[in-house]
Amino acid sequence: MPIEISDKTIKHEFIERVSQLSGQDIFMCFQCGTCGGGCPMSGQMETLPRRIMRMAQLGMEEDVTNSGTSWTCASCHTCTANCPRGVDLAKVMEAVRLLTLRKNINMIDPSGLSAEMVRDLPQIALVSCFRKLTS
Ligand code: SF4
Repeated sequence: MPIEISDKTIKHEFIERVSQLSGQDIFMCFQCGTCGGGCPMSGQMETLPRRIMRMAQLGMEEDVTNSGTSWTCASCHTCTANCPRGVDLAKVMEAVRLLTLRKNINMIDPSGLSAEMVRDLPQIALVSCFRKLTS
């Protein structure tokens, strides 16, 4: 399915910020799809990583940040190990998450968790969750 560019303005600032934060040359990606093929979470992703990379190359900030892909990413680095172009995709996903969190948008509200949930969930999972999903 072709990518539809909803906002015709290429956001060069978004491309630069993703590149700076991730330390990756996102234009190295040639959309081979190897990353998504080995990703243990790809079945849960509405948009596969190679598509996210293409949208990032096109500066489609809203489409990239509104996608749940970066939040579904488990940061396991399988994609990074498999990428034939040497792109550390896990770092790109982290950059996309950071750009969202820096707008003070939290993906989880700690105060919204019930006392039972806080009691029952593994503490390390909660800490990891807060570090990854809150600004
Ligand atoms: Fe792009 Fe690398 Fe993923 Fe291939 S494996 S689509 S080159 S990021």
